[in-house]
Amino acid sequence: MSYDHDLIVIGGGAGGLVASKFAAGVGKKVALIEKGKLGGECTLSGCIPSKTLIKSAKMLHQMSRLQATGLTLKGPCTVSTEGVMEHVRSVIEDVARGHGPERLEGLGIKVIFGEPRFIDNHRVRVNGRTVSARNFVLCTGSSPFVPPIEGIDAVPYLTNQDLFSLNDLPRSMIVLGAGPIGVEIAQALAYLGVAVTVVEQAEQLLVREDGDLAELLASRLSGEGVDLRMKTRAVRLEERAGSVALTVEERPGKQDVLVASAILVAVGRKANVDGLGLEAAGVSHSTKSITTDGRLRTTQGNIYACGDVTGPYQFSHMAEYQARIATRNALFPLKTTADYRHYAWCTFTDPEFAHAGLTEGEARQAFGEKIKVFKWYYGDTDRARTETEPFGMGKFVCDGSYRLLGAHILGQGAGDLIHEAQIIKTLGIPFPKLDSIIHVYPTLSDVVRQPAKMSRIDRLRGNLFVRALGSLLSRRSGSS
Ligand SMILES: Cc1cc2nc3c(=O)[nH]c(=O)nc-3n(C[C@H](O)[C@H](O)[C@H](O)COP(=O)(O)OP(=O)(O)OC[C@H]3O[C@@H](n4cnc5c(N)ncnc54)[C@H](O)[C@@H]3O)c2cc1C
Repeated sequence: MSYDHDLIVIGGGAGGLVASKFAAGVGKKVALIEKGKLGGECTLSGCIPSKTLIKSAKMLHQMSRLQATGLTLKGPCTVSTEGVMEHVRSVIEDVARGHGPERLEGLGIKVIFGEPRFIDNHRVRVNGRTVSARNFVLCTGSSPFVPPIEGIDAVPYLTNQDLFSLNDLPRSMIVLGAGPIGVEIAQALAYLGVAVTVVEQAEQLLVREDGDLAELLASRLSGEGVDLRMKTRAVRLEERAGSVALTVEERPGKQDVLVASAILVAVGRKANVDGLGLEAAGVSHSTKSITTDGRLRTTQGNIYACGDVTGPYQFSHMAEYQARIATRNALFPLKTTADYRHYAWCTFTDPEFAHAGLTEGEARQAFGEKIKVFKWYYGDTDRARTETEPFGMGKFVCDGSYRLLGAHILGQGAGDLIHEAQIIKTLGIPFPKLDSIIHVYPTLSDVVRQPAKMSRIDRLRGNLFVRALGSLLSRRSGSS
């Protein structure tokens, strides 16, 4: 049977762009179908706008810390935040230009704008036409999940999909959810002068993070004026004279009403599966994800999926990693399996909070008391002192053979520093080895190298030969 294409990729975001470029790169006939604009959540309403907003916020925050570096502002100085949202949109446009359809067409990818619907597992209807392919990769991403809070349908709430379209920053904001999106935006808005209250039903913000570091970040946010309402449940939302009023319950019977100019809902994501006609193609899914096996194959043999729509880690870099695997498996007979043992991510708060592998708690649960934990504070790092950024800590969790199980860094540059740990963890190099590598002084790499040094000393102490030599030497000096 012949098909119009070797591969049809549905969704032109982080995963879909990589999938279609990969397929074109290996000489396959590929079409990319996108229902909106190319670039996806990451470019248009996720990573790019949020990181741009964070940059403006950090600039303003740095100005408030001038004195920490011995500088004094002479004379009056006012900073307006009026242009911030426009600036955010200009960066979105700039990045989106890089994913323009003409660029993809130049690579040999047929770009189709429209909403496809499967007729069967080889054919979709789009723009009134039928298009077929031997294989498909589904990369339709995710959308904000809106919880069924009483009254929410009658109130104009914001999500990440409309936040960056605002022209003016609100005076005050309730952020519902203390996950990565909620926490990043909450802090950025607070830096920009918005009165922010975060409502989270869990006990800890960023629930997947190491508890000690999450607590440290929570204390920093509170110190910066973010009103953190943990273990608090949103009960009812109403509009009151142009403001929003959220009734929250801190414990059974103890309710409070929070009033703000706007509310941002950031409590989780749902898979973009509506309208695709997945049933006709024999692809199983839930509201959270499309079901895939380790090779990213759906329940239909010729259809693969990657990125947010299948999970389990909803990040752009994971979408890209999966896209390469899903596309290769869709196109070639030798199949590879996605390996999530070395997942990593970063929450771009100020300072950043980076995560690779197991937290101390997870490692203890899996490996018991054999694990070893090595920590280093930014405050003990010369470069952090010269930068006047002594806040934060690195925590490294090893197994009994000193191989890294997890690395967690809260502090300046954490999103970059984590890669040193990530590399040795992925390659299975013992953590102490890192100490034998020459590192440049003074750099923040001490946050990784010093714990490696501690692990080296710890290993030496446990070495039988070294222990025997030590006791021999101490006996000798005792007898002389
Ligand atoms: C505020 C925010 C900040 C974030 N920050 C980061 C970060 O700093 N780092 C990071 O790694 N991740 C971040 N993420 C997550 C990141 O954006 C996603 O993990 C990533 O975009 C997933 O890529 P994807 O290809 O699966 O989906 P997307 O990039 O969302 O792409 C999906 C595409 O499919 C299209 N589509 C949907 N349905 C259909 C359909 N029926 N037919 C055709 N096309 C369709 C959509 O229009 C979209 O273009 C952030 C997310 C948010 C919301």
